[in-house]
Formats: sequence, C-alpha cells, structure tokens
Amino acid sequence: MSTKKEIKLDFNSAWELDPAPEDTKHVSIKKQYDLFINGEFVKPNSKKYFATYNPATEEKISEIAEADEKDVDKAVKAARAAFGPWSKLSGKERGKYIYRIARLMQERAREFAVIETMEGGKPIRESRDIDIPLAANHFFYYAGWADKLEYAFPNKNPKPLGVAGQIIPWNFPLLMAAWKIAPALACGNTVVLKPAETTSLTALKLAELIRDSGLPKGVVNIITGAGKTGAAIVNHPDINKIAFTGSTDIGKLIQKSIAGTDKKLTLELGGKAANIIFEDAPIDQAVEGIINGIFFNQGHVCCAGSRLFVQESIADIVIQKLKDRMETLKVGDPMDKNTDIGAINSKEQLLKIQEYFKIGKNEGADFYQSSCSIPKKGYFIKPTLFLNTSQSHRIVQEEIFGPVLAIQTFRTIEEVIEKANNIPYGLSAGVWTDKGSKIFNLTTKLRAGIVWANTFNKFDPTSPFGGYKESGFGREGGLHGLSAYLDLK
Ligand code: NAP
Ligand code: MG
Repeated sequence: MSTKKEIKLDFNSAWELDPAPEDTKHVSIKKQYDLFINGEFVKPNSKKYFATYNPATEEKISEIAEADEKDVDKAVKAARAAFGPWSKLSGKERGKYIYRIARLMQERAREFAVIETMEGGKPIRESRDIDIPLAANHFFYYAGWADKLEYAFPNKNPKPLGVAGQIIPWNFPLLMAAWKIAPALACGNTVVLKPAETTSLTALKLAELIRDSGLPKGVVNIITGAGKTGAAIVNHPDINKIAFTGSTDIGKLIQKSIAGTDKKLTLELGGKAANIIFEDAPIDQAVEGIINGIFFNQGHVCCAGSRLFVQESIADIVIQKLKDRMETLKVGDPMDKNTDIGAINSKEQLLKIQEYFKIGKNEGADFYQSSCSIPKKGYFIKPTLFLNTSQSHRIVQEEIFGPVLAIQTFRTIEEVIEKANNIPYGLSAGVWTDKGSKIFNLTTKLRAGIVWANTFNKFDPTSPFGGYKESGFGREGGLHGLSAYLDLK
C-alpha cells in the first residue's frame, strides 16, 4: 500500500494532509502558532516567528512564535498566579484533570503521531505505537498518584515546589513533554515548558488539548523559541525548579547559571550506552536487541546502545548476522508504515553525524554501511557500523546521536565492565546472556542509571529513568519522578 503524503501549500487555510490510508485523515496544522500563556494563544512580544520544516522533504510546515524574555516573564507570572489555587486543589481534583488530558491524548493519538513524524522525522510506526501511547500512559500513571502523595511519602509532608521551568529536546518531543508535565501537575506545581526549536508542533497541539481539557488557566504554559528562550526560563528569578533534558554541554551551562540560587534542578543529559553480548546469549535475539538499541528513532536516543561489546568467541557470527539484518532495514519516508529508519531530525544533526564519519575514518576504524538506497531529498543516513574501534576513539567516547554503532570485542567480564564504565556518560547499558548470575553481577558494577537485561530501549512510566556522571542527575518516572517535584521534609 502506498502512502501518499503530498501537502497542500495553502497558507490561508489550515493545512490538510492528503487523505492517506488511516493515519493522516484528521490532521490539521495551522500556518502559524502563537505562545500558549495563561490558557490562551498570544502573539510573541517580538512579533517574530521562525519556520519549522519536515526533515524528510525539507518543506516548510508552519511558523512558530519566538518567545523572548518578556514572554517568558508573562508565562512565569501566569504560572505563579495559577500556583496558589492549583496547589490548594485536592489531589483527587488535580488527578481528574490529568486523567482528562491522558484520555484526550488517546483520542487524538493519530493526529499527534502524524505530526510527530512529519516534524521530527521518526517512522510513523514508532510515533504511533510507542511515543504517543507512552506519553498518554505517563499522564495516566501520574494522575493516579495525585491523591496518594501522602502515602507515597509517609511522614514527609509532601508539598509542591512552585513554578517549574521545563526544557526539552527534539528526539521525543511529546513524550518528553509528558515526562515533564505529568508529574509536575500531579504534585501541585505549575509549569512553563519550552520544546526544542525543530519540534514545537506536538507541544503546541498539546497546548490546544490542554486548553480544551478545561485545565485552569496558567497551570501549564507552553512557549516556543530557541536556546535564548530556554536560557530566559533558566534565569527567571521566580522559577522554583528547572527540569532539563538535552545535551551535556547545555546541562553544564544551566548548572552554572543557577548556582547560588535556591532553584531545584534535574538534568537528563547525553549518553553512550554499552550493549554487551556474551557468548552464552541467545544470538538472534541479541542481534534484534542491537538493531533496536541503535537504530530505533534513527539513533536519536540518549540511552541508545551506541557502543556494542561482543565477546570475542562469537564476534564473527554476531557481526555477520548484524550485517545481514541491516540489509533488511528500510530507510526512507517516515510516513510509510514499512519504514524502519526515518529522517535525521535536522540538517544540523545530519552534518554532525557526517562529521563523525570523517572522525571515525581518520581514527582508523573500519566504516561499514548497509547497501540500501536513501531518498535524494531530505536528511537521511544509512545504518552504519564502525568496526575495529578502540576505547580512545572519539567515535567510542562521544555521543553521535545517529544510526551509528561503534563495535568492540572483549574476552572477560572484568575487561568489559572496565571498558563499559570508562566513559564520561552513565545513562544506560544492556546485557545479553543466558546466566542470571552474570546479569546480577553486571547490574551492580555498571555505572549506568538503567541496565536492561536481554532487552533494550524498554520504557515504562513506573520505572525511574536517569543517569550518573555526565548523563545528569535526578530521576524521571516512577516514584522517583514524583519526588523531583516535591519538597519533602
Ligand atoms: P540541546 O541542544 O541541549 O537542547 C535541549 C533543549 O535546551 C532545547 O529545547 C534547546 O532549545 C534548549 N536550550 C538550548 N540552549 C539553551 C540554553 N543556553 N539554556 C537553556 N536551554 C537551552 O539538546 P538537543 O540537541 O536538543 O538534544 C539532544 C541531546 O539531548 C542529546 O545529548 C541527548 O542525549 C539528550 N537527551 C537526553 C535525554 C535523557 O533523558 N537523558 C533524553 C533525550 C535527549 P533549542 O533546541 O530550541 O535551541
Ligand atoms: Mg540544540
């Protein structure tokens, strides 16, 4: 079945996607989006708008308002005014609103999925089956906690922190918004959220949904812009908490900017996960885990399994099977349900990945790509391996954030633990083995916030997510995710 996805470039009316089979039917995208402050859409102070593009076609999709310091101030004031009444509502009442947001998100799931894929470049299969349902699940999950905070933290007298400034990246736009907003609201905080410049649309659709949900005005404010807008949120004096997900460089900058203030901070930063395959692992299953670990969402995943460690005795067979499996991956139109690897999110990111290709080759690693074809237009990268890499290579140490896997071999468990940990990051890791004892041994010794065993990239609202070292601090998800938005005595 072909998915026709021609877009009418009519700026006078809401955009309609050509009615392709099922998914694209009810999607409307406005020609221009304003800032969502105090329950309504308002023009930015500067009157400036920036364009957002479809990375698979390089076509302009819409225009997005650019918020400056005055807009940030307006949003923070709205959130502050809403904080009193919102935090005094009973947990049960707050929970009702959050449940309503979750249900509306489910109802509009297809529209969210299509827009997420159009603007972000990820395969529709992923936005439809993973991102959007998980985002709704986060709202459901935290709605359930809203009236149980006293039980979650007995004798701690949990109190909300106040106004939370939340800044998110472009790789999981709606999901990251859900990770941030749902626990903040459940705990009685109010929110000013800024999505990333290249992926504002689903956050703005969420703003429409929140307006429709009847959530009291000012409880959630969503303002768009680029790095400067984010910095204005961080530096606003009346913010009580900053929750940031993004790169380690910006995370460090934020930590410096708020040093000496009493703002609370959680940072979810970069990663370079070790995916470790032992000789006793179920090999075909492990190969699927390697594929999922690095090619899911084009490898734009902070917890991606971007370093493969394969035990020497099975290295040849694993690498051969991996190459064979890579030949079956379809790279291309993200809107096509058969696509495995969609578009790289932006030209900037495409260039960054290509730069790492040069770096890796110059470092002497062997470069390998599958033989698939990629579209002429749009930003695409073939699934890529670097073989014969060593621990000191930049392609092994640095986060590439693309469909690029650096492969090393190892002999002993001690050796692989040391190599896996010998890196500035500590977000996630994967272990593939038949032996439970090996799993237990490794989970205690790997310095990573999340360790998956015989699986990879599994997410659930109930389990805490976060890093060590330069991957940040604080946890999102589960009970831990609640405590990040509470003052606990
Ligand atoms: P980024 O450049 O750090 O941007 C993240 C967010 O911060 C964006 O909204 C960005 O705005 C904003 N920002 C930029 N400069 C800022 C400043 N000076 N002050 C405040 N905010 C500022 O990261 P990215 O390139 O979008 O995302 C990729 C990174 O995120 C990767 O390193 C990845 O590992 C990490 N990540 C981590 C997790 C996790 O949970 N640990 C999850 C997902 C992604 P603009 O983009 O609009 O400029
Ligand atoms: Mg950026």
